[in-house]
Amino acid sequence: MAEILTVDKACVYFSIYRGFPKKLVGQIKAVDNINLSIEKEETYGIVGESGSGKTTLAKAIMGINPLDHGSIYYRHEELNELRKRDKKFIYRKIQYIYQDPSSSLDPRKSVKDILMEPIKVHNLYPKEERLRVIGEILGAVDLPPSDFMSRYLANLSGGQKQRIAIARALLLHPDFLILDEPTSALDVSVQAKILELLDSLKKRLNLTYLVITHDLSVISNVTNRISIFYLGHTMEKGKTYDIFREPLHPYTKLLLSSIPIIAESEKKFKPSGVPTIEGEIPSFVNLPKGCRFSTRCPYVFDKCQSLEPEMKEVKGGHYVACHLY
Ligand code: SF4
Repeated sequence: MAEILTVDKACVYFSIYRGFPKKLVGQIKAVDNINLSIEKEETYGIVGESGSGKTTLAKAIMGINPLDHGSIYYRHEELNELRKRDKKFIYRKIQYIYQDPSSSLDPRKSVKDILMEPIKVHNLYPKEERLRVIGEILGAVDLPPSDFMSRYLANLSGGQKQRIAIARALLLHPDFLILDEPTSALDVSVQAKILELLDSLKKRLNLTYLVITHDLSVISNVTNRISIFYLGHTMEKGKTYDIFREPLHPYTKLLLSSIPIIAESEKKFKPSGVPTIEGEIPSFVNLPKGCRFSTRCPYVFDKCQSLEPEMKEVKGGHYVACHLY
């Protein structure tokens, strides 16, 4: 399949200033040398604890966080080098659905006004057709237009708000959606329904998804391939099934061993004999030398504390950055 998005050695750094007058005292390498490529119509997952760099990378794809090094390509066009007009078009094709729809949608507006806004900004559809289009898009996310068009966001449930956020993105005819923790703000009973809706829209509209989450059950259910992030670095990447069946990196093993098992069928994915994950994620300001996971890794040895491991392909399409391989 053709690649739709390629991230090539991407780095996003933030400078730290202190004192008066302000003095540069350090740098946070929030995304550090990330490579990944996403194929058309697949669902790619980025997994990691909070502060692992996954949202920072997503915002770099959206052009919100500028890259310090590296490049991001959408359909082989380097996003940074596009002219303003082309960028506006591309960022209709790539849409970002934020973690908490309450913070990204204006609660003082009606559903109709929320959905009308992107149509007006991008001057889409003839004026007399706009209400019909909004009605159709509400129907596509299973919200009856006659009931929801005039409602206000404050009167909607979490799941309904998430459907409005999805509808708003779809109005622009995207082909690539970034879903940032798509279910974390929702009740468990609603999570499955939103994932089902996303799956049916993906098939119907030939969409490609990048799913960012710390929730391993979402990842195991919806993604084809994943990258495991830790402190701005990729620790392991490959097909979701391969990584869940035979995780290679000690961090991945610890993450998988920490999932509570609900279904008997999930037991096959839970590595046995692995210690539980201990300790706090270190600060970006004071990164460990060598391997970034060395302060929490139960298998650490001398080399790990002096040399950063490189990413190696261990099996077909299954990569790991660890000195044990
Ligand atoms: Fe653990 Fe060393 Fe592998 Fe890092 S390189 S994950 S410290 S064994």
